[in-house]
Amino acid sequence: MAGIVVVFDFDLTILDVDSDNWVIDECGATELFESLLPTTPWNSLMDRMMRDIHSKGRTIEDIGECLKRAPLDPHIIEAIKSAHALGCDLRVVSDANRFFIETILKHHGFLDCFSEINTNPSYVDEEGRLRILPFHDDDATKPSHGCSLCPPNMCKGAIIERIRSSLVDEGKKKVQFIYVGDGKGDYCPSLKLSEADCVMPRKNYAAWDLITGNMDLIKAKVHEWRDGEDLQRVLLQLIHRSERLKIIMDCKHQTSSSHEALPQALPVPH
Ligand SMILES: [Mg+2]
Ligand SMILES: [Zn+2]
Repeated sequence: MAGIVVVFDFDLTILDVDSDNWVIDECGATELFESLLPTTPWNSLMDRMMRDIHSKGRTIEDIGECLKRAPLDPHIIEAIKSAHALGCDLRVVSDANRFFIETILKHHGFLDCFSEINTNPSYVDEEGRLRILPFHDDDATKPSHGCSLCPPNMCKGAIIERIRSSLVDEGKKKVQFIYVGDGKGDYCPSLKLSEADCVMPRKNYAAWDLITGNMDLIKAKVHEWRDGEDLQRVLLQLIHRSERLKIIMDCKHQTSSSHEALPQALPVPH
């Protein structure tokens, strides 16, 4: 289905849990994490926690194995594979990091379904420790995106605007976005969507609370979902509906242009 871009948040949307919390808990680092959280931005804290986990003798392979055990609903994999098979352009926009996301998507065999992963960069340094950097290339005191809704390291709304303008540059002006997410960080991109787009907030999670708290601010159509099975049903319905609508519009266009092609009625002589 050309013309539909489905953008997925990762934690608690594709994955059943939050990957950062999962790794911290599985590596027994919850106490330190919680003690530093009130004073350290999340993104820098994750980098700091990787240092602690590494110093305790956990290798990058250990973290990889831990990520592979994180629960992921098979309905989500089916939904994503179906949307990809229908020709949708699928992208991830996440405040986790590249190593976590790619490890999990590769493990479950659907990394190739995505055309792009927008997330915090990560790399393994010479000591074998995972380093996690901010998505927006700036320090925490001077957020480069200038958005008051989002954390300094990442504004998902700015990413949506960048995707839209890059598609326009490619000549794809009539693109419909379907944005799927759960968290507070998914509210800003929801505000950037247009009337033609859809937003799928996870029911009773932070993004849903913010969106349903003032529907006047949201231009996109809102379709909530509760779990993986629900996400699969709602997403595929939206894609099929959009496909039917496109066929109807194409038919109308063809009918009206064929009318235009008809010869003009001859004027009746007086
Ligand atoms: Mg999330
Ligand atoms: Zn923002």
